Amino acid sequence: MSGIGKGVSTASIGKILESRGFKVSAIKIDPYINVDAGTMNPIEHGEVFVTEDGVECDQDIGNYERFLEKNLFDKNYITTGRVYQTVIQKERNLEYDGRCVEVVPDIPNEVIRRIKKVAKDTKSDFVLIEIGGTVGEYQNLLFLEAARMMKLTQPKSVLFVLVSYLPVPKIIGEMKTKPTQYAVRSLNSSGIQPDIIVARSEFPVDEKRKEKLSVFCNVKKQDIISAPDAESIYEIPLMFEKENIVGRILSKFEMRPRKRDLAEWQKLVNTIKHPKRTVKIGIAGKYFRSGKFTLMDSYISVIEAIKHASFFFKAKPEITWLDTEEYEKNSRALKELEDFDGIIVPGGFGSRGIEGKIKVIKYCRENKIPFLGLCLGMQLAVVEFSRNVCGLKGAHSVEIDPKTKYPVIDLMEEQKKKLKEKKYGGTMRLGAFDCKIAPKTISFNAYKSNLIRERHRHRFEVNDAFKNDLERNGMIIAGINPELNLVEIIELPEEKHPFFVGTQFHPEFKSRPLQPHPLFKEFIRKSLAD
Ligand code: GLN
Repeated sequence: MSGIGKGVSTASIGKILESRGFKVSAIKIDPYINVDAGTMNPIEHGEVFVTEDGVECDQDIGNYERFLEKNLFDKNYITTGRVYQTVIQKERNLEYDGRCVEVVPDIPNEVIRRIKKVAKDTKSDFVLIEIGGTVGEYQNLLFLEAARMMKLTQPKSVLFVLVSYLPVPKIIGEMKTKPTQYAVRSLNSSGIQPDIIVARSEFPVDEKRKEKLSVFCNVKKQDIISAPDAESIYEIPLMFEKENIVGRILSKFEMRPRKRDLAEWQKLVNTIKHPKRTVKIGIAGKYFRSGKFTLMDSYISVIEAIKHASFFFKAKPEITWLDTEEYEKNSRALKELEDFDGIIVPGGFGSRGIEGKIKVIKYCRENKIPFLGLCLGMQLAVVEFSRNVCGLKGAHSVEIDPKTKYPVIDLMEEQKKKLKEKKYGGTMRLGAFDCKIAPKTISFNAYKSNLIRERHRHRFEVNDAFKNDLERNGMIIAGINPELNLVEIIELPEEKHPFFVGTQFHPEFKSRPLQPHPLFKEFIRKSLAD
């Protein structure tokens, strides 16, 4: 089922293989028809992660990037929509020599072509392919078929890992293996026998259950990997290493084991487990409610970036969700912001909760609480400053108020036509762009560079016509895109506020556990300062 950690399991196996000197790449297969994740609601789908080359993809690509400490690209992400789009285009181009194009084998063949291309282009020793969804559901059948076909033609170079959940129902208090047995049977009916089972559960899997799984699932006992819930996802490669998963993988491929080096990672995990202090961070977002449950998935890269920077300072972050709609109804509730060491207003779309976010930003500005605005968060910081400092009453982003008298955030020129033609999919300003940093700014001190590249996902931008107003009233434009002259970073001077920074881009996508992002690092440093 979704959410049990297939992505982190995949990333962890990759991490261990890399630590042993192998070259690894990874592919995420999402069985939905959407060509990319860009058109989906984050509450339903989780965060939309953006790659350097501008693909709006699944958050698992983010996990792979963070664990493997390398960038992944367009080719590392496959959806049913992408596969069909290519096959249909090829058919239109007469690339099938006039024959009838059929779901099987042409769709699985296109999947296989994509997988092999990644292996070839990246010259990897291993390509890890995560097939999303649940065994037995209709959507991923064609991907399982592709997997089966690959095994048939290259039996020695394909291996299957099943990630399965073993529930421990409270009333019984015993770990149950039946769902996994059925999952294996279901896989068998697709012609696939798992070589390894990652047994996810609240607790470690004991010998008795390993034996049972081994007999009923036709998998050797040593190939059943116990994967209990962990305090931190970064512990998982170490847990897997103890269970010798990579030893088993290498022996099945008849490859010689190599020496491992996970020392830095081990150090990181020690820091995570023994923090010296805590840092309280509030996130003012809106994509975290699902019925009565609170989801973290929508802001996963932001959360991870906060963690990486906090770990750097041996601190444990305590993250709280701020419900900005509440502040709209009741301004007094804002007082609770005093309790936080730092506040982030992350990216977002649409008008729900906007005035509440603006109130949060005003409070941070006036009360000198470290503030980091990401994309929408930066745009709203400009709106707040325009209204309350520059005196432009009613200033707004045209995304929220198309008739505002002071459109301080406006639709980018190139975007107007696209929206008119209803071309929504994959048409935002996407991927990495250059940003020139002004000297003597907080950003310059953080990056220690005057030219950086960061990832974007937006349609709106700071309106050129108001740049002078902002600067005259004390806002610093600390980063500019050199080609289009777009505002990329805004700041308040350090003499006026300890840390007030907004970025049009999403720095969170480039943060890595062992290399925290410079701006997040600076934000946490200031949040920790008394
Ligand atoms: N909705 C805003 C825009 O399109 C901000 C997008 C974001 O926060 N990613 O520009």
